[in-house]
Amino acid sequence: MSRIFNFSAGPAALPEAVLKEVQTEMLEWNGAGASVMEVSHRGKPFMAAAAKAEQDLRDLMGIPDNYKVLFLQGGATSQFSAIPLNLRFLGGKADYAHTGHWSKKAIADAKRFVEVNTVCDTSEEGYKHVPDVSDWTLSDDAAYVHITPNETIAGVEFDWLPDTEKPICADLSSTILSRPIDVSKYGVIYAGAQKNIGPAGITIVIVRDDLVGNFPDDAPRLMDYKVMADSDSMNNTPPTFAWYLAGKVFAWLKANGGVEAMASINREKAEKLYGYIDASDGFYTNPVAVANRSWMNVPFILADSGLDAAFLEQSHAAGLHALKGHRSVGGMRASIYNALGLDAIDALIDFMDSFKSANQ
Ligand code: PMP
Repeated sequence: MSRIFNFSAGPAALPEAVLKEVQTEMLEWNGAGASVMEVSHRGKPFMAAAAKAEQDLRDLMGIPDNYKVLFLQGGATSQFSAIPLNLRFLGGKADYAHTGHWSKKAIADAKRFVEVNTVCDTSEEGYKHVPDVSDWTLSDDAAYVHITPNETIAGVEFDWLPDTEKPICADLSSTILSRPIDVSKYGVIYAGAQKNIGPAGITIVIVRDDLVGNFPDDAPRLMDYKVMADSDSMNNTPPTFAWYLAGKVFAWLKANGGVEAMASINREKAEKLYGYIDASDGFYTNPVAVANRSWMNVPFILADSGLDAAFLEQSHAAGLHALKGHRSVGGMRASIYNALGLDAIDALIDFMDSFKSANQ
């Protein structure tokens, strides 16, 4: 059986080279006589693998020494609550940009712990662009500013940051490691792993030191960044297999040119796919403002939605899987994270073109 081109939004495709390496270690890892899943997280071999994963991530992202890197559980969703709980010592109010489905969820959870000031809101238009920062209603007394630089469902992205002294908290779940970023400009970065990092089950949090250590007494300890930092993310049993595999992906990224190389391939992939969509004479369209088109998640709709079922059935049969758009949006979506190369884009465009010719 051959592997498909997997356009899933997450859990998503993993680099084949990584999966093959993991396969060779499945029965016996690191001379342990057992797999990595079967040994103690407190043993030297796992501790060493965990520390190397952290160091590789630090190298890849250029994470400054005054930031903690945490490997947590609970998914990115847990951070929707953990951020207000850890940061509300700075004030009872926080600024949130509402630019898509995931920022909406982050706002709903934050409202349970802080007063939320929504600095922009594109829900009415169905999340098709990100308002210019000059139109954001930032508040002077906010504890922090929360943004979602890439909205996975609508495929809406922005790569600039608001000009603010407040800590910027960013949900990078679907864009982390897709290109270089300047970590020193952020207070907290968080991301679920199941897109550009590894399997589901581990959540990366990168947090500046001065934001750690002021957690409320009456909230769950596992959400306290200090508890997790002081224990090297091992206050309780971590998701060892996901951590190990994330480490393999980091090593793969380093060996393949790091985030700079990913950025150039990702840009080329996205330009090629959007270019094809835009040149399809309206057969396919992408509804997002050009400046805010995501490199990672490319939604597109067919002019005749009556063809959706046939498109999905035939693309699946052609080995192009998971192209169905999110149920809240409909249409199609191609998620094209780091593990998918240009060959996947070429195969998708070939298919889209022959489907167009057959159905025009
Ligand atoms: N934020 C973004 C941008 C996402 O894409 C997702 C999941 N697709 C989440 C948050 C939620 O992540 P999790 O399922 O890991 O909680």
